[in-house]
Amino acid sequence: MAVSRSADVPAEVDVVVVGAGFSGLYLLYRLRELGLRAVAFDEAGDVGGTWYWNRYPGARCDVPTTDYAYSFDPELERDWTWSEKYATQPEILAYLRHVADRYDLRRDIRFGTRITAAAWDEPARRWRLRTADGDELSCRYYVMASGCLSLPKAPDIEGAGRYRGEVYLTGRWPHEGVDFGGKRVAVVGTGSSGIQSIPLIASQAASLTVFQRTPNFSIPARNGPPSPERLAALATDRAGYREAARWSRGGVPSELTDVSGLTAPEEVRRQRFEDAWRSGELFGILGVFSDQAVNLASNDLVAEMIREKIRGVVGDADVADALCPKDYPFGTKRPCLDTSYFETFNLPHVRLVDLRGTPIASVTEAGIDTTTESFEFDAIVFATGFDAMTGPLVSVDVTGADGVTLERKWEHGPVTYLGLMTTGFPNFFMVTGPQSPSVLSNMVVSIEQHVDWIADCLRRMRAENLDRIEPTALAEAGWVRHNQDCADITLYPRANSWYMGANVPGKPRVFLPYVGGVDAYRRACDEVTEKGFLGFRLDGPAGPRCNDGVIRRVQPDVAMVLDLMASLGLPPMETMSATDARAFMEVIDAGRPPGPEVGEIIDAALPGPAGYLAYRLYRPPSRGPHPLIAYFHGGGWVLGSQDSDDPFCRDLCVRTGSVVVSVNYRHAPEDRFPAAVDDAFAAVCWIAANATELGGIPGQLTVAGWSAGGNLAAIICQRARDAGGPDISSQLLLHPVTDCDLGRPSYSSNGEGFVLTAALMRWFWDHYADGPDRADPTASPLRGTLAGLPPAVVVTAEFDPLRDEGDAYAEALAAAGVPVRHIRARGHVHTSLVMVDVVISGAPVRAEIAGALAGLRQAPARR
Ligand SMILES: Cc1cc2nc3c(=O)[nH]c(=O)nc-3n(C[C@H](O)[C@H](O)[C@H](O)COP(=O)(O)OP(=O)(O)OC[C@H]3O[C@@H](n4cnc5c(N)ncnc54)[C@H](O)[C@@H]3O)c2cc1C
Repeated sequence: MAVSRSADVPAEVDVVVVGAGFSGLYLLYRLRELGLRAVAFDEAGDVGGTWYWNRYPGARCDVPTTDYAYSFDPELERDWTWSEKYATQPEILAYLRHVADRYDLRRDIRFGTRITAAAWDEPARRWRLRTADGDELSCRYYVMASGCLSLPKAPDIEGAGRYRGEVYLTGRWPHEGVDFGGKRVAVVGTGSSGIQSIPLIASQAASLTVFQRTPNFSIPARNGPPSPERLAALATDRAGYREAARWSRGGVPSELTDVSGLTAPEEVRRQRFEDAWRSGELFGILGVFSDQAVNLASNDLVAEMIREKIRGVVGDADVADALCPKDYPFGTKRPCLDTSYFETFNLPHVRLVDLRGTPIASVTEAGIDTTTESFEFDAIVFATGFDAMTGPLVSVDVTGADGVTLERKWEHGPVTYLGLMTTGFPNFFMVTGPQSPSVLSNMVVSIEQHVDWIADCLRRMRAENLDRIEPTALAEAGWVRHNQDCADITLYPRANSWYMGANVPGKPRVFLPYVGGVDAYRRACDEVTEKGFLGFRLDGPAGPRCNDGVIRRVQPDVAMVLDLMASLGLPPMETMSATDARAFMEVIDAGRPPGPEVGEIIDAALPGPAGYLAYRLYRPPSRGPHPLIAYFHGGGWVLGSQDSDDPFCRDLCVRTGSVVVSVNYRHAPEDRFPAAVDDAFAAVCWIAANATELGGIPGQLTVAGWSAGGNLAAIICQRARDAGGPDISSQLLLHPVTDCDLGRPSYSSNGEGFVLTAALMRWFWDHYADGPDRADPTASPLRGTLAGLPPAVVVTAEFDPLRDEGDAYAEALAAAGVPVRHIRARGHVHTSLVMVDVVISGAPVRAEIAGALAGLRQAPARR
């Protein structure tokens, strides 16, 4: 391979860029624009990155070429015409060469040169770098545009080095091409590269044996000319189209659906799937249903329809079955686009070896031995993928300010701020680093966004006389947690994928890319800059500065709910009459997911002090008797009924294995304080007296409630203690109202924008109780005597106006000697936990609550 050395290695530059693919090329262009002296290095012999190395037959992009292209220069866009919907590797490489020529970039790139080490020199405030040739140079800023999929993974197969025949690695394909004509060929691996190359290798080879460890989901690419719809959209409004891509979920303008797989009628499901199947686009099939990435049942609908298609194509039922992925949700491993992949297995000279049944025992001198058979081959192709995302970064010996290497810092998984920088490594940037959308997106859109952010950052620093930047530990920890929060609400962590580092032995199992979306990510990056580099420590001749903080603290799905509510422009409830507010709530409740199935539901009524009180009983599917929970709904003493917390009560019933009796009570303003308290107390007395008939275990009675219901539950426990009964074994207080003092800090910090507002709480109190009554312990239980109360689980939410009074109640209970499990729901709002199957991140908190209740039940009796 000819190596062209286009520039000498200078001793000192402003910026060193590693990589000359899409990222490195655009970065060089932007740095030059800023007047910075920059040089790029690439191990490759020319520009192209991915498209320089991956020359295997069938190598193509799988994002439409209309979108998989730079957008920074309209002239460049006008100059280039793609010939296909999904261009081949030679065409994409030709495009990148054209870009390099057009902007005369090669003169600042040193090819055939690997950067092997980089160390931060604090006194000089510079990075000192070394190349594989032994050259040394220094720079102020060091940027790794080294790619997410640029370090091929060596096959981890016994005896891989022994084979005497031809060996090929898809990620390092010979430039002169390979002629498989008349040869017995093996392909090991059925990821994207395997799926793209297998049909073409089969068309040449005398025989082809495919060794498959894990079957992959793949849909027909339906390649051909570029999509007329996308071309038309670009022709009409190129800038608008590109802007839409920048603010889309995946970096390609696509319509998001609100059709749930769980609730859509069968014909709608089928229609949506078939449309996506026909489109031959990844983001189409990944977005058939709004909930397919987060709900297993919904996901399985799509997965099964794809399996049907595979079975419909592959003639041999056993082979078809082996090709059907079954043990991970669809989309959690990168799905593929193919041209006649499954059809290839109908050819008489193509054979599939399913390694799950008969694993490879060893590669031999002549071929491959499985546990049951010996194969001889003339050529073996390893399509075994990459040490993705972190691999290329830690393969360079990068040493930070404290002498710690990047590899060491990331030994338990990558730790970054925005996927752009990492604490302890000043002036070190990554393009599409781990914890950025990167491989989950159209990467060119993500690359342009990262490069623009970095260039803008350097521009501002220069303008403000600063020359050192590094994220703070707080900001970084917050971003890592936010990434984890985003991944945890999806099905992604359930697969042993390269997204999880699972394809590389010994690599930490951490979800690597940011799954919150290109749009959400861009917003976070923009906000960081707008807030004066939030979470960064900067320094330079202008002096040090730091605006420390965490950019995303609200749970990601809660944030989506808040955004949606804000976009609907709903009228504030406190501006309505009580009657209108109740009607409004009923409309909202009608559209919610139902919650889990329970064993039995009974609607009935029990005697209250002023008439019968409706209740709804939820019985677990298991055989009783069960512990009992008397439950009081939320709604600020004004709204709600035995039905209003229905999904939550079902969930509570199933998780705790308890009979839940959700009792309605009289509401204000018609029946003001203390009517609700009197009703709740009567209900608990009745439930305790009828525990056996209700299917409960006598003596195991929890009194529970959410919000105003939590207020009632707390008060009932105090009243029962004072009245000498009924016997209550534990209390569960979810975001309870415990005090009438609305001056606590959480009322101001969380008083607006988090569903329950301070204004609405005032409205509730005004409807419920007069001034003097409010301070009574039977309205403000925090003011009561707390000693001798049943053990408690108290749950408070970080972004709830009621947080501080809930915290105060938990602390006061503990101080009074009451056993307390205080669960602080991080990143949640007042309504998070009751929004079952909407706020998915609430589920682990509800699981924790159930565990805490079980713990209290097992604890030795208090008295
Ligand atoms: C077969 C294949 C198909 C793909 N299809 C798509 C697609 O359809 N859509 C999509 O969005 N993404 C796709 N990708 C992902 C693809 O990697 C990115 O789209 C994009 O090309 C990445 O560009 P980059 O410049 O960031 O990195 P790369 O293209 O990977 O370039 C990085 C360069 O850095 C060099 N390098 C790394 N470390 C060093 C070092 N220490 N010293 C010197 N040089 C170094 C490498 O040699 C490489 O040339 C595909 C990837 C593969 C492998």
